[in-house]
Amino acid sequence: MTTVLERVRRRYETTDKKCPDCGYVDEEGNWESRTNGQQVVYRHVCPSCGSTREHTFNLK
Ligand SMILES: [Zn+2]
Repeated sequence: MTTVLERVRRRYETTDKKCPDCGYVDEEGNWESRTNGQQVVYRHVCPSCGSTREHTFNLK
């Protein structure tokens, strides 16, 4: 089953791989997701410099 959450995550994995701080491109696209039922937060930690990025996606 493909959910909207998976589609959004895939979009981040495929379009947002480059770290804005150091320019490192994470080909693995290791976005993590967590949810509280109303929002989903996608989080990525740069493996090169440790910079954290987050995107918040509202389910409603
Ligand atoms: Zn970085």
